[in-house]
Amino acid sequence: LTPVPSDIEISRAQTPKPVDQLAKEIGLLPEELEAYGRSKAKVRLSLLDRLHTQPDGNYILVAGITPTPLGEGKSTVTIGLVQALSAHLKLNSFACLRQPSQGPTFGVKGGAAGGGYAQVIPMEEFNLHLTGDIHAITAANNLVAAAIDARMLHEATQSDKALFNRLVPSVNGVRRFSPIQMARLRRLGINKTDPASLTPQEVTTFVRLDLDPSKITWQRVVDTNDRFLRKITVGQANTEKGQIRETGFDIAVASEIMAILALADSLEDMKNRLARMVVGTSRCGQPVTAEDLGVSGALAVLMKDAIKPTLMQTLEGTPVFVHAGPFANIAHGNSSVLADKLALKLVGRDGFVVTEAGFGADIGMEKFFNIKCRASGLRPNVVVLVATVRALKMHGGGPNVSAGAPLPREYIDENLTLVAGGCHSNLRKQIQITHLFGVPVVVALNVFKTDTQAEIDLVCQIAKECGASDAVPCHHWAQGGRGSLELAQAVNDAASRPSNFQFLYDLEMPIVEKIRTIAQKVYGADDIELSPEAKTKIDYYNQQGFSSLPICMAKTHLSLSHMPEKKGAPTGFILPIRDVRASIGSGFIYPLVGTMSTMPGLPTRPCFYDIDLDPVTEEITGLF
Ligand code: ADP
Repeated sequence: LTPVPSDIEISRAQTPKPVDQLAKEIGLLPEELEAYGRSKAKVRLSLLDRLHTQPDGNYILVAGITPTPLGEGKSTVTIGLVQALSAHLKLNSFACLRQPSQGPTFGVKGGAAGGGYAQVIPMEEFNLHLTGDIHAITAANNLVAAAIDARMLHEATQSDKALFNRLVPSVNGVRRFSPIQMARLRRLGINKTDPASLTPQEVTTFVRLDLDPSKITWQRVVDTNDRFLRKITVGQANTEKGQIRETGFDIAVASEIMAILALADSLEDMKNRLARMVVGTSRCGQPVTAEDLGVSGALAVLMKDAIKPTLMQTLEGTPVFVHAGPFANIAHGNSSVLADKLALKLVGRDGFVVTEAGFGADIGMEKFFNIKCRASGLRPNVVVLVATVRALKMHGGGPNVSAGAPLPREYIDENLTLVAGGCHSNLRKQIQITHLFGVPVVVALNVFKTDTQAEIDLVCQIAKECGASDAVPCHHWAQGGRGSLELAQAVNDAASRPSNFQFLYDLEMPIVEKIRTIAQKVYGADDIELSPEAKTKIDYYNQQGFSSLPICMAKTHLSLSHMPEKKGAPTGFILPIRDVRASIGSGFIYPLVGTMSTMPGLPTRPCFYDIDLDPVTEEITGLF
């Protein structure tokens, strides 16, 4: 339709096929499906065993140039591309997307189901609670937090003997260690199975985690942009006997458990990763884990359904996996390894799996390669780099674009100078970043109705001059899959070319060198500058043997640098590393760049102002 109706109107106008029908079409057996309502279902991981001899399909990554705060349409391009491949070129295809966080849905950006005629439906189910995975993550994360503070209280107020008797209770006169306690004893080097045989010194070692309150790295989480929780004080009631400490909240999608969900490749791997999570340091400098707290089995129980990807469909009835949802700026920004692996088996050798990495290629794609591909062992055939005329104009010197404000004139009228400026700076740099990994790149220009033919031609021409294998305009937002046919053909051609994939850095390089390599080669920084706190943490992680992990930078998505206002391709800057955390369960070192916060805030007029419910029809309005 012209004009294109709102995202939610389009979504509601299409009746999704029943999810069991969709499952049958893509080759799932009824027993591999766990339906949640009529239009979505979790898929059991036993499918991987059944299909393990099946060859993988082509693996396509959708990344982007540095976006405006409005988003440049990576999800829309992903959906448009699979709709074009499946419904129009008749090639099996699957989209793998992240589950959106409530933060942006009610904050600035809105949902993440795509948009226009390239969406996942029903979009309100996709954008809101889905199948409860983020709630499970929040519950698991906060159980760890509760376990930490309760344990410190109990250790502070009880003798070794009292602690031992409670931690290893006597049942019918017999004390037995639980399997999780046995694992802790083995790690402590106490190879005893009979609780009665522990020496007093071993009892002390066993019962006292002796967490240093100033070195607890675990934070509580909530999936709302609640900036007032960035720093809090806990334990202020008299019942906590003075065990007061400062801590804070992160947004749930930046939590380590979210990263583990996205990176685990089996239930067993997830369980082991949950057990390995380091929550802080003891007073004698030893890392304390979730397993030490005795909570790792309970975490696996809370997460046992979340590990199964959720099957949904596009507007044109093609399959989509929605699974995990880490942000790309303050987390590793990619949907799950398991969803990609399942989808690659389901589409078969000639099929296509299109997976999306968050924000610009400098963050989401860099982490896709260096973190996700290392975890999965998978290698993509092609990168699709999404650009828009509006973001290119901003990088070429146009005024700032902000959510909720009308677009300035420059973004509505033709302006080839600004477009060329953006292409020669940000687009060129993001193409170069893709080339660092040796994978062919196709530029997808997501066309808006204000773009002129001259602007479109200019972007495609400069993108090819900058080394893109191809560069094509896409009209999926206004036309659905048929608007992305040219892109589908370009991707199909590029997938048949050789890809010479390589990682950016060797894991055995020192932590500081890995951070410097990303800063210089990807962001274009002259060098990095470590705060004293960052240096101390890196020394500690080296001592603890955590030095050969990949790096997950927490950096603004609004610039290649750490300064959101610096557009284009900034040079001549030093990247400040304020702090460094370690996510041992997810398997990465996590430097915080500049003032980057792990809990976003709400703007003056958040999206929630427009969201409403009709109590009679139960229809939701205002989601986009
Ligand atoms: P990203 O995944 O890059 O963050 P999205 O695909 O979520 O971006 O799109 C961001 C917003 O922009 C969505 O509301 C979407 O409907 C809208 N949008 C995307 N492409 C177009 C387009 N070509 N024309 C108009 N609106 C668009």
